[in-house]
Amino acid sequence: MTAKPAAAAARATVYGYPRQGQHRELKKAIEGYWKGRVTADTLLETAKDLRRSHWQHLADAGIHEVPTGDFSYYDHVLDTSVMVGAVPDRHRDAVAADALDGYFAMARGTQDVAPLEMTKWFDTNYHYLVPELGPDTVFTTDSAKQVAELTEALTLGLTARPVLVGPVTYLLLSKPAPGVAADFEPLTLLDRLLPVYAEVLADLRAAGAEWVQLDEPALVQDRTPAELSAAARAYRELGTLDDRPKLLVASYFDRLGDALPVLAKAPVDGLALDFTDAAAANLDALAAVGGLPGKRLVAGVVNGRNIWINDLEKSLTTLGTLLGLADRVDVAASCSLLHVPLDAAVERDIDPQIVRWLAFAKQKTAELVTLARGLSQGTETIAAELAANRADLASRANSAITHDPAVRARAAAITDTDGRRRAPYAERATAQRAHLGLPLLPTTTIGSFPQTAELRTARADLRAGRLDAAGYEERIKAEIRDVLAFQEKAGIDVLVHGEPERNDMVQYFAEQLTGYLATQHGWVQSYGTRYVRPPVLAGDISRPEPMTVPWTSYAQSQTDRPVKGMLTGPVTMLAWSFVRDDQPLGDTARQVALALRDEVNDLEQGGSSVIQVDEPALRETLPLRATDHPAYLAWATEAFRLTTSGVQDRTQIHTHMCYAEFGDIVQAIDDLDADVISLEAARSHMQVARELAAHGYPREAGPGVYDIHSPRVPSAEEAAALLRKGLEAIPAERLWVNPDCGLKTRGWPETRASLENLVTAARTVRTELAGS
Ligand code: GLN
Ligand code: ZN
Repeated sequence: MTAKPAAAAARATVYGYPRQGQHRELKKAIEGYWKGRVTADTLLETAKDLRRSHWQHLADAGIHEVPTGDFSYYDHVLDTSVMVGAVPDRHRDAVAADALDGYFAMARGTQDVAPLEMTKWFDTNYHYLVPELGPDTVFTTDSAKQVAELTEALTLGLTARPVLVGPVTYLLLSKPAPGVAADFEPLTLLDRLLPVYAEVLADLRAAGAEWVQLDEPALVQDRTPAELSAAARAYRELGTLDDRPKLLVASYFDRLGDALPVLAKAPVDGLALDFTDAAAANLDALAAVGGLPGKRLVAGVVNGRNIWINDLEKSLTTLGTLLGLADRVDVAASCSLLHVPLDAAVERDIDPQIVRWLAFAKQKTAELVTLARGLSQGTETIAAELAANRADLASRANSAITHDPAVRARAAAITDTDGRRRAPYAERATAQRAHLGLPLLPTTTIGSFPQTAELRTARADLRAGRLDAAGYEERIKAEIRDVLAFQEKAGIDVLVHGEPERNDMVQYFAEQLTGYLATQHGWVQSYGTRYVRPPVLAGDISRPEPMTVPWTSYAQSQTDRPVKGMLTGPVTMLAWSFVRDDQPLGDTARQVALALRDEVNDLEQGGSSVIQVDEPALRETLPLRATDHPAYLAWATEAFRLTTSGVQDRTQIHTHMCYAEFGDIVQAIDDLDADVISLEAARSHMQVARELAAHGYPREAGPGVYDIHSPRVPSAEEAAALLRKGLEAIPAERLWVNPDCGLKTRGWPETRASLENLVTAARTVRTELAGS
């Protein structure tokens, strides 16, 4: 490796930092404020302290420009809506009365006013609040938050770079406001929005910003020529403003593709590119445009969204290649560090050897500084860091944890037959009908029943040692009996045990699988004040013993009706965990699938005739670019089939997914070869049923007739009307009757009433069918 000193010294920077604080101070302060226990002043002080300590940490570590404006009380896209004055009409009074309360009203809604819709930020597990725009939207400038945070950092004597969501990405992430035609394209508002950005840039310049970063991650997705020319126009306009700060346009999460030449030609001063998985594509594209002469290139070589240490030598090689391609090359994490936990060093329950493989935000910061030093002062100045890094990488590569010969041998021996049910669907359906004897339009639920305070207390008591294992088991069994008794009385045909033993549908399994790690403090923001601790797929995966069989067979022993076994599928296990970066995702999925396959087979042995494998994350893990979809869907569907194909023909495999739009993966859903699929459909009035029918979906389906996302109880007539709609698309012999999703967030009263109405609806429509 030949990293020569660069012309301009390379520096380390980041685009954003975890917001919550080591002890989740921000979450506590905000939630305290909502409950009236914390004053607004205290909340603002807490936030200010956290910003200061994060900047100070970054600066002390050797980060050159600290990011400002990345902090948020809830979400940075919502902050951008405030910055450009895109406050929905229904929230205007609240915002005028009190800016902070109005802000939280937009985020969370109030008794009377609905919040903004929330959706996933690209393919991460962070959720943003979707801006609502329309032809009448009037943008106004409010740069107060950006200016204040920049001023705070400058006052501390730091060099700072404000970070904003770029105007093109902002519009591409927006949707038509309620009442606006669905085909309204927010991007048509670009010319109205740019003057607002111009004003914000001028304000930041006046406040002392030398550089401002504009994040345009939407440009790593497939974009139309019209969208690309809008991006060109935006940056031509912003780039030619008088007396503006220098502009750094940042991309992340994937390659820029066709957007790269557009941005390279724009009169901006720097580009930030992702050089992790997208390294080769971005390098080729950069070379093809002749590099970025006269510009600053910020190279995201350290993965900002996984939790593994960087391969420093590999990064130095990439950086070395980039040196000749731009005026100045800086080193960064590929995206905001918002997506990783704060500090791996505080993990006490993880083997210290493994902790050395982990890099959370603090460790990544140190890596960036090391890389910048190596790049600008020569690799001999970081010899000690390189040696330690080499040793840690070797320890990970050679560990028994990452290489379990039994798991590897089994995965290597998989044949095509392992991923295929014995008989085709038509034959299986006959066997299943004979075995299960279900009525037409069978009723079922998605798995979980209300997670009551008593259940959560029992789990907490078990953890704290206030309740012993036997006592806990008794409580869970009592809950299972109650849930079964209710379902029998209500007349449901295929029962569930209710999942009372599960804290979370991924964590519950991760805790029982070898090769998975749990963190104590590895919190990452999911949305607002909701933080999650994703488990870590650290090594080869195996299942030491059955994970759900005892609960499920207990439930089956209590009733004559079939009880559905209930598992989380391999794709969802990966999607909601931190994944390995030392082998292809498909290999990890296959290992998880084999462990789950054993569970499926054991459930069948234990007397389950119906087994559901949930894959709610199948679509959300879809790569950002369409050309990458087939490879992903191939391993994802293979993993599902591997999980479910070990059973006899008469055993009925169900799957469940919860999202309304899945037209683009209907072939993949077909490829799962599940006997029955349940889907969210109530809100979209059975849209999925029509999509399945249009595709010629040949198997059984249960488009949801009860929207579980609200406490509202659907009437029997309403559910029956949805069922009749479903029958227009799916024949009665293949139509199931079920809610949209699990009931764990619901209360018992509305659950009872809704499910009773659902059964009534099924009976009504059955009678109608018998009569016709
Ligand atoms: N079986 C799970 C439940 O009912 C499915 C949850 C989900 O789809 N997210 O809770
Ligand atoms: Zn669901």
